[in-house]
Amino acid sequence: RITGCSSPPGWLRMVAPGAFALLALTPGGDLSRFQYTEVHMGMQARIVVYAPDEPRARRAASAAFSRIGAVDAALSDYRRDSELMRLCDHAGEGPVKVSADLFRVLSRAQELAKWSDGAFDVTCGPVVALWRQARRTGRLPSDADRQAALKLVGWRNVVLHPSRREVELKMPGMRLDMGGIAKGYACDAAMKEIRWYGLRRAMVEMGGDLVVGDPPPGKAGWAIEMPNVEDPVDRVQYLSNVAVSTSGDTEQFVEIGGKRYSHIVDPRTGMGLTSRVAVTVIARKGEVSDGLSTALSVLGEDAERELARRFGALSVYIRRAD
Ligand code: ADP
Ligand code: MG
Repeated sequence: RITGCSSPPGWLRMVAPGAFALLALTPGGDLSRFQYTEVHMGMQARIVVYAPDEPRARRAASAAFSRIGAVDAALSDYRRDSELMRLCDHAGEGPVKVSADLFRVLSRAQELAKWSDGAFDVTCGPVVALWRQARRTGRLPSDADRQAALKLVGWRNVVLHPSRREVELKMPGMRLDMGGIAKGYACDAAMKEIRWYGLRRAMVEMGGDLVVGDPPPGKAGWAIEMPNVEDPVDRVQYLSNVAVSTSGDTEQFVEIGGKRYSHIVDPRTGMGLTSRVAVTVIARKGEVSDGLSTALSVLGEDAERELARRFGALSVYIRRAD
């Protein structure tokens, strides 16, 4: 029952009046837990949802997975036919009309680029490609290749025209890579879809990014284990209506000459990060937590406060393994 729910005080205020009525009709006690997984963006996407019955849960989850598929079709840099890759094909040719998804994520990315002074930069595609190649060959990119790739990098060469929803990539050969922000955005979009089905006690997770809605029935929040928090008090947190993202070089890297180079690059130098950093960000939206965790992986503690405040992050955890 709602009144018996040990939710944080902010929770009731966040529930829209319509949704409140709906929840009142289906008290938490009558909801069952359902879990679904599908592979998207090269990883397992997981949805947990509390619903009055299985068909309702399944319809919501299936709509959410379709939505993730649509976001992937727009933003993927692995799919040659994605909207993003078609946009890149027109680099240097003037403004191109894009979908609402692509425009929104690009706008957020540009904001992050501006405030991180280019540490987060979705034009880093050519550099990321070099490091993907390094992971395959086990050899560092040559200085010449790195310099050539860097010539195509620079967030200022992406120009957005909001009124016409157009994007202009100024230089031919530019390659955008939304890998640092797309999953968080996809989780947001999936959660929104689930809410359309009147279900609010839900969680969407993709790799290092997750978004939670209202808590499971009778719980204060979703028990989320923070991947790089050592302090036992902070390690498991009970969260609702937030997004949590973790970035870092702990899983994806190449080791060359005893040094670990991350799949996150510094767009200003073209080098893979070697700082062995892991960053977890809690924010209201996945598009913020995801992008910010990548940005802070590059910038570290120096930028933490400024960026966290600027983007409304709720908590930031930065861990270094030296
Ligand atoms: P993960 O994809 O492992 O969850 P991130 O959210 O940090 O981790 O995203 C890393 C991805 O972001 C890289 O694989 C690459 O596609 C892209 N990327 C790498 N460096 C940057 C950067 N400096 N700015 C923006 N995107 C980046
Ligand atoms: Mg990220």
